[in-house]
Amino acid sequence: MIRIHSVESLGTFDGPGVRMVLFLQGCNFKCLYCANPDTIELNGESRPYDYDELMKLARSQRPFFGKRGGITVSGGEPLMQASAITPFFSMLKAEGFNTCIDTNGSYLNDAVKELLQYTDLVLLDIKEINEEAHRKMTGMTNKATLRMAEYLHEINKTVWVRYVLVPGYTDDEEHLHELGRFLQPMTNIQKLEIQPYHKLGIHKYKSLGWKYELEGVEQNTPEQLKKAKEIFGQYVREVVVN
Ligand code: SF4
Repeated sequence: MIRIHSVESLGTFDGPGVRMVLFLQGCNFKCLYCANPDTIELNGESRPYDYDELMKLARSQRPFFGKRGGITVSGGEPLMQASAITPFFSMLKAEGFNTCIDTNGSYLNDAVKELLQYTDLVLLDIKEINEEAHRKMTGMTNKATLRMAEYLHEINKTVWVRYVLVPGYTDDEEHLHELGRFLQPMTNIQKLEIQPYHKLGIHKYKSLGWKYELEGVEQNTPEQLKKAKEIFGQYVREVVVN
């Protein structure tokens, strides 16, 4: 059983091609910009799905996946349920589906290592390379995430790094260079996706009764996005703005 908040069909944002995206419930971070704050609380609105139901869903959507598409588990933080995902991914791989995990990278244990054996691609969300800025944005240390990046390099797992560029919070140019230098030796990183800051989830904060801390933060200017792309491009072979 996997505890799932919601299922998106025909997703084109979380991994290659057209995908079925499962948003799992529960996250150990509390990012100020989180667009899915309703997935953070472990006991938030969600329900358990069994493997039969999930496999039926995957098979029914297969005609839309084409050569590149497949299944992504996102969240929330999916690695909190790593041991529950492994049997599902194992079944998916046995039927030739492409599998992908979108994670903040803060869990690395035996269950996660096993799950990675059935995972084609990891979308690794790095929130900030600077520890203080990371704590300010997420409430947590970044050490485990950076260790995960190193581990994924060690096992040569294909990774797309994702980076949300928040004006005044995660766009310090020296931090971007530092992250670039950290990633540069990692030949397993296929690309880095810069995700512009947006406020699409803000209405969810109101319904949760939570304060949205980034109220006064404006969206990125084209110049800010261009600058970040230029900096990361000095270190990572492919950089895109989503
Ligand atoms: S890690 Fe992702 S799901 Fe968790 S709080 Fe941050 S943005 Fe939201």
